[in-house]
Amino acid sequence: MIAELICVGTELLMGQVLNTNAHFIAKELAPSGIDMYHQIVVGDNPKRLTEAVETALSRADVVLLSGGLGPTDDDLTKETVAKALGKELVLFDDEWDKLQRWFSSKGRTIAPNNKKQAMFPKDAIILDNPNGTAPGCIMESDGKAAILMPGPPRELQPMFRNHVLPYLLKKSGHRLYSREIRIFGMGESDVTYRLDDLIKNQTNPTIAPYAKTGEVTLRITARCQNEAEGEALVAPTIETIKATLGDVVYDTDGHELAEVCHKMLIENGKTLAVAESCTGGRLADAFINYPGSSAYFMEGDVTYSNDAKMRCLGVRAETLDTVGAVSEECAREMADGCRRHAGTDYALSTTGYAGPDGGEPGKPAGTVFIALASETGTIVKRLNLFGDRSRIRHSAVLNALDLLRRNICTK
Ligand code: ATP
Repeated sequence: MIAELICVGTELLMGQVLNTNAHFIAKELAPSGIDMYHQIVVGDNPKRLTEAVETALSRADVVLLSGGLGPTDDDLTKETVAKALGKELVLFDDEWDKLQRWFSSKGRTIAPNNKKQAMFPKDAIILDNPNGTAPGCIMESDGKAAILMPGPPRELQPMFRNHVLPYLLKKSGHRLYSREIRIFGMGESDVTYRLDDLIKNQTNPTIAPYAKTGEVTLRITARCQNEAEGEALVAPTIETIKATLGDVVYDTDGHELAEVCHKMLIENGKTLAVAESCTGGRLADAFINYPGSSAYFMEGDVTYSNDAKMRCLGVRAETLDTVGAVSEECAREMADGCRRHAGTDYALSTTGYAGPDGGEPGKPAGTVFIALASETGTIVKRLNLFGDRSRIRHSAVLNALDLLRRNICTK
């Protein structure tokens, strides 16, 4: 099956908006076995949009369109595609009611021109848009289909994943099976460099990397007839990736780092307390986020001042006076003190300069010490993090979780 993409919007041609919808759709479509040979970007101009639609329909089985579904006069994708397919738009009462309810639930008045967002060809398949006012739709004609989605990525992406991709897979007779490998401690470029051959030579399954702060996810997707066949296709690739990347791989089923630690603590019957300075409660929150954390999470101490570090955790005045609160010694004493008074198997601590200002010679903003105390001793790690204050604090949390994950004694 051949698909073609038309992104509609003068703002895309003017360089005011980056065409992330094309990137997203192409990436999502890649493992499906549906080929995309052309992509078109066209402005909000009925004549040129008609030409684009006619050209795409002449060479593809399915034409995907993004943008131009809004209520204003220059939003003309639906009208243009319907005309090209010889279809008339009629008002869908249900959609109009839904739209009116959406506006009143937001305390907004609906404008008469919003009515056009509830108009479709009478045989159209409507695609629900819980994140905005413009529903998408599928118009079928002579075995071909035009699929119209709204422009804003936060509306388009769930619509594509929840409605469009399943429709395309059904039409093409394929199904997809995916697993996600989660990686911490290696950047995206390093991961893709090490897996270069594998990524380049894989067609089924495909390997798609996604990066977010401090972490990389690889989605391994197989085209298959059923789940068992999918797993059989995906499993050897996952094993090869684990063997190539080593212990930076912390999960192969899409779980978050905190969830992996949460499960390990429960399964091994271990308890935990945390003593935080620069992360200010975020580390405790990472655990408490998961139901059932009361089985192991005993307490979280946010000891931001030197006084609190001494009073609550027993950090020595001498340590603070000589090497300061942002130091290996302080992180160690925080973790030791926390474990001692909480009586837990493990205690984690964080202390650092989250920036943007502050720091000291040899310890600029982004310098963070984390420690893990356990019955076998205390491990301290110095981190040199970068980014804004929030990113540094988030990275510190992830590093502390990773330190725990690597050192929990498993039964
Ligand atoms: P709505 O009426 O809900 O705004 P729409 O379908 O009319 O949706 P457009 O008016 O075409 O969408 O675009 C709205 C916004 O969506 C644009 O200003 C832009 O920020 C974003 N957008 C549109 N097309 C793309 C694209 N291809 N990639 C990324 N963002 C896009």
